[in-house]
Amino acid sequence: MSSNPHQNAVTQLEQVASLLSDSYQDRQAEFEAAIDKLKEPDQVFETELSVKMDDGKTKKFQAFRSEHNNARGPYKGGIRFHHDVNRDEVKALSTWMTWKCAVTGIPYGGGKGGVVVNPRELSVGELERLSRAYSRWLSDKIGPWVDVPAPDVNTTGQIMAWMVDEYQQALAEKGLIQENPWGTFTGKPLELGGSEGREEATGLGGVFVLDKLVVELGLKPKQTTIAIQGFGNVGYWFAKHAADRGYQVVTVSDSKGGTYVEGGMNPEKALAHKRKTGTVSDFGKKISNEELLELEVDILVPAALENVIHEGNAANIKAKAIIEMGNGPVTPEADPILTKNGVVIIPDILANAGGVTVSYFEWVQNLQGYYWTHEEVISKLQPLMEKAFAEMWVTKKEHQVDGRMATYMTAVKRVVDVMLLRGNLS
Ligand code: GLU
Repeated sequence: MSSNPHQNAVTQLEQVASLLSDSYQDRQAEFEAAIDKLKEPDQVFETELSVKMDDGKTKKFQAFRSEHNNARGPYKGGIRFHHDVNRDEVKALSTWMTWKCAVTGIPYGGGKGGVVVNPRELSVGELERLSRAYSRWLSDKIGPWVDVPAPDVNTTGQIMAWMVDEYQQALAEKGLIQENPWGTFTGKPLELGGSEGREEATGLGGVFVLDKLVVELGLKPKQTTIAIQGFGNVGYWFAKHAADRGYQVVTVSDSKGGTYVEGGMNPEKALAHKRKTGTVSDFGKKISNEELLELEVDILVPAALENVIHEGNAANIKAKAIIEMGNGPVTPEADPILTKNGVVIIPDILANAGGVTVSYFEWVQNLQGYYWTHEEVISKLQPLMEKAFAEMWVTKKEHQVDGRMATYMTAVKRVVDVMLLRGNLS
């Protein structure tokens, strides 16, 4: 089993390339050159950020930004603050962003950033200084038409606000008037050029996909049980919108463990419990994160980190379908085991694309200086998610492939076609 996410991303690309190869028979050399290029990011920046800690000492934090591909538009993707961040993870996540943007057809390429840190160990002041240091370091590498960062694991609207502020200052100090600093970051607070609906967008986008999937599986929402691993922004909003529609969210979890509520829980109450006690795990009956994955439920939603479903536990998954709300939760070795057992996979690049899609709406609003209502945002998100699901389902049937390969076929083809149009591949 490979636990290296970048190796996983390359394996997935090689698999899809072999499926697409026939349709590029007359341009085989260019097709192969494009696929080769897509195996590595265009560039990866790496540094050590120096941050003044509250005790007066300076601490160093390793930081990355990977810009994978910009054939379809500016690099786009979040910034992750997590102690497990590393170069290969950031490279993989930026590759997945390239596909994700192509899946809903938004005009971006892929990027991703990260800092090796456990933000829970920092004071608010230290977190602000770290966020500012990261933004200052990146200030000459990003911009509304170059690379547009956003939140990811453990990064928030407040962090984006500090980053925008620092970015604007850094440019001003160099005598550069940035015409549109707000268009350089998305996921910002509403008061600072953010978009209505951005906070819930990833979770809600996944529920739009869920609604279409249950129809295909012949299930009814009220009889459908759901287990969600992860109860951060994405897991919570998925749970909330699913429960509002009558689905039974029977279990959710955080890093301290999971909780099980027969018949389905009220996610708002579960969140209030987590806020009060620091964990959701003792809200109902306690279960472990490993048990959660192997529960007898209809839909399993990994909404946390990479590689949680692997060769070692894939055969024990009892769910009818997996909706990947986190990035990279299923390893390539687990995919064929799941497919053989009839588990439908809705891949991350489709299931969680709602977040970056509303980031795109935020950027459009920033560039126009004209802001939309919550209703307008959601009414633009829903058809894009439903269209992406429908395209995947048709390809899956037509080519007899799993949900991941079906989604990848469309996404990779969209990127390769633009690379071929642009040329310059030798
Ligand atoms: N971090 C999110 C993702 O992985 C959102 C990225 C964005 O909005 O640019 O899709």
